[in-house]
Amino acid sequence: MNIEYANRIKQLPPYLFEEIDKAKQKALSEGRPIIDLGVGDPDGATPDFIVKKLHEASLDSATHKYALNKGLSILRERMAVWYKDRFNVELDPDTEILPLLGSKDGIAHVPLAFINPADVVLVPSPGYPPYVSGTIFAGGKVHYMPLKAENDFLPDLDNIDEKVAANAKLMHLNYPNNPTGGVCDISFYEKVADFAKKHNIIVCSDAAYTEISFDGYVPSSFLEVPSAKEVGIEFHSLSKTFNMTGWRIGMAVGNKDILQGLAKVKSNVDSGVFTPIQYAAIEALKHALELKPKFNGEYAKRRDTLVDGLNEVGWKIPKPVATFYVWAPVFGDYDSASLAKALLEKTDIVATPGNGFGEAGEGYVRMALTVGSDKLQEVVRRIKEKFF
Ligand SMILES: *Cc1c(COP(=O)(O)O)cnc(C)c1O
Repeated sequence: MNIEYANRIKQLPPYLFEEIDKAKQKALSEGRPIIDLGVGDPDGATPDFIVKKLHEASLDSATHKYALNKGLSILRERMAVWYKDRFNVELDPDTEILPLLGSKDGIAHVPLAFINPADVVLVPSPGYPPYVSGTIFAGGKVHYMPLKAENDFLPDLDNIDEKVAANAKLMHLNYPNNPTGGVCDISFYEKVADFAKKHNIIVCSDAAYTEISFDGYVPSSFLEVPSAKEVGIEFHSLSKTFNMTGWRIGMAVGNKDILQGLAKVKSNVDSGVFTPIQYAAIEALKHALELKPKFNGEYAKRRDTLVDGLNEVGWKIPKPVATFYVWAPVFGDYDSASLAKALLEKTDIVATPGNGFGEAGEGYVRMALTVGSDKLQEVVRRIKEKFF
């Protein structure tokens, strides 16, 4: 039998991390002392009290059944309290909050509810891959919005062609930004809301990193803009905030009609979040504000070790005020791929080539602060020895 992939699979952009993945596997199999700054997955464990809650809740057999798609009402209520405490945004737990199996679930599925063939989805480049794959699975067309250093890694909305804007039905945004570490202020979000209203575009704000920030900078929510709820939703996740990437829980909040569309898709593809995980998430959110300084203190220390260290050596890299990513411009004659390759070959350091996040990521490598400061000191030492 001839097994052939559907066109939507063939249309996915090439996976540009393959070469570095292979080189990393080879280096590991040779027993080389790899330091992996490639993975965007916190190295720390989920806090104990959250794990304990999962265990405790799982002992009650009532939690073993199919969960409700819209989740426990006490979970949605807790999410509303957290949004109010953190962003001063009011949400109706019944209609304006939808729990997700991680925010990737919502990001990848939302186009299926709203995008028809020929509809355009505005996607930041570089960006998180599901913005593109979700659009392609829904049959839509991707229009890239380049994020450039000279624009502080914000898309230039004034430069989006009128015709493109007219055909656009949805826009993805992500601040604090992966992979650039870029941030935005509320005036940018106001501009986005006006643009979206003018062109009838659904805004999907990916806020996965709002809780990871430094130097007194406190990221905003898109929903802090009074008109935001008319045009959009925001995705949030417990993954990065609480070292819970494997647990698969997040949420979409905001416009109730948009959420209903997403819920309709999801009710046909999954059956909700495992109930003990919902109880654990309630516990996590209750303690969100007290956990934050500890997590962020550690990431800030790592950021300073790596960025100050590399700047001293002669690799000029700006310091991010949010996320756990360092977006480092390439030096010398290197491009993204050749620098990532050279780092691995010469220093056994894994960094991610920026072009793998989209064409506009060329000229950078991404290094994740997901290893301890002692290892980051070693990274600086090795780079100094082999490159500077
Ligand atoms: C990690 C990450 C997420 C979160 O994904 P989950 O599915 O919630 O684990 C969302 N957006 C971006 C940009 C990310 O880097």
